[in-house]
Amino acid sequence: MLKNSKVLILMAEEYMVNQLEMLTVWIPDRMKPGMIFPLDKPIDHPQRPHDPFWAVLACPECGTTGLVSRLQVAGLCAVICGTDLCSAEFFLRGDGIVPRKPM
Ligand SMILES: [Zn+2]
Repeated sequence: MLKNSKVLILMAEEYMVNQLEMLTVWIPDRMKPGMIFPLDKPIDHPQRPHDPFWAVLACPECGTTGLVSRLQVAGLCAVICGTDLCSAEFFLRGDGIVPRKPM
């Protein structure tokens, strides 16, 4: 059993895009996994006033777009994909995407 779950984790990591790609013009159709689009103006985060939303990111695993905060863009907080079908957790490091190691 343990062997099988290790294989699954490896496959999930392989499937994740590991390079962040900057989109400079907002074209929603162009958002592919691992693409980030910086917002013109940060959007206040309702729960965390000191950590506003900073960019739109397409999940490197499933491609679902979501807002990411300033601390997440800076790599200080993990990004967790918000969809039910995807459990991607990762850090943004420069222009790279690093999967969060399972605890
Ligand atoms: Zn996802």
